[in-house]
Amino acid sequence: MDGSTGAAASAPELLDEDAARAFLEHFRWPKGPVCPHCKSRGAYRLHPRACSAAPVRKGVLKCKACRRQFTVTVGTAFEHSHIPLSQWLLAIRRWCESRKALSAYQLHSLVGVSRQGAWLMEQRIRQALAPRAARSPGTRRRASWHL
Ligand SMILES: [Zn+2]
Repeated sequence: MDGSTGAAASAPELLDEDAARAFLEHFRWPKGPVCPHCKSRGAYRLHPRACSAAPVRKGVLKCKACRRQFTVTVGTAFEHSHIPLSQWLLAIRRWCESRKALSAYQLHSLVGVSRQGAWLMEQRIRQALAPRAARSPGTRRRASWHL
């Protein structure tokens, strides 16, 4: 399930997943990948093999120091989401273009995600864009989300 209704899939500014991941990697790590677990700069990309029983997803990196795997979404508002990264980036673009914060219903129609996905996007974008002091004091993970 990708959560897409198809409305936004035809939007010309919607990137494909590889381009969206490359954009976010360059934006987040302009000097190369940084492990979100140990902050080491030494990481290499794992490549999916067709013959493997447990193939690696695209965009997975492995830290040379702590040997843990990660992607560019770890520690961000996009982590643990089934919504394609390209739709997240489109939602943020629409959010920034808007004069005021968008509702979940607006995100649903503008980005083409399900209503449940739009609600998740609204919550996470609001939290990520909020000033640090205004962020929920709930869990540490949520307080550390950023875009
Ligand atoms: Zn590491």
